Amino acid sequence: MAKYIGPVCRLCRREGEKLYLKGARCLSPKCAIEKRNFPPGQHGKEGQFKRNRSSDYLLQLREKQKARRVYGVLEAQFRRYYRQAIKSRGVTGAVLLQILERRLDNVVYRLGFAANRAQARNLVTHGHFNINGRRTDVPSMQVQPGDLIEVRPGSQRRPYFTDLKSGEGDKRSGVPNWLSAEPALLTGKVNRLPAREEIDANLNEQLIVEFYSR
Ligand code: SF4
Repeated sequence: MAKYIGPVCRLCRREGEKLYLKGARCLSPKCAIEKRNFPPGQHGKEGQFKRNRSSDYLLQLREKQKARRVYGVLEAQFRRYYRQAIKSRGVTGAVLLQILERRLDNVVYRLGFAANRAQARNLVTHGHFNINGRRTDVPSMQVQPGDLIEVRPGSQRRPYFTDLKSGEGDKRSGVPNWLSAEPALLTGKVNRLPAREEIDANLNEQLIVEFYSR
């Protein structure tokens, strides 16, 4: 379960747009994209002027990297998801995004139990959630329609979750229709699989498919 542990805002600066990896800070003037919107590194400012020189390959690569960074997935795992998507019957790009969206850490974030996916991942790996009554600590677990996600009774007494329950630590920015949340009970449910238009990450999945089909 490897994960990226380097500076997070650097990833947004590399992509040249906000990926909303941090939560409240992303909406504040402290956001690195607001303050230093040029690529990171010694030659970052020079790179800013090179951005306009783009090939098809570069566009495809950047889109793939962006998707990986938004969902916090490393290359090997992302490639496995792509292989899984091409074997499915649906449209490859849409299925790929659906697989990413159905990760448990993403669902915990979408339900408003965490301010960002990285925090959601930590909460899951520390074993704070039950899925259908069984404890899980696997952030990459794929949720299914009908799954019930709940904060474990022992964890509900922790200050983080008591704040969440009382509404003080509310992290919700809008629960999508394919999920439903009961904040007072610290539970959530998967109503159905997400439709493409409900996945609000600013991604062009076709470019990702083109990248891997080269
Ligand atoms: Fe990205 Fe958020 Fe950092 Fe801004 S504050 S650069 S949106 S992670």
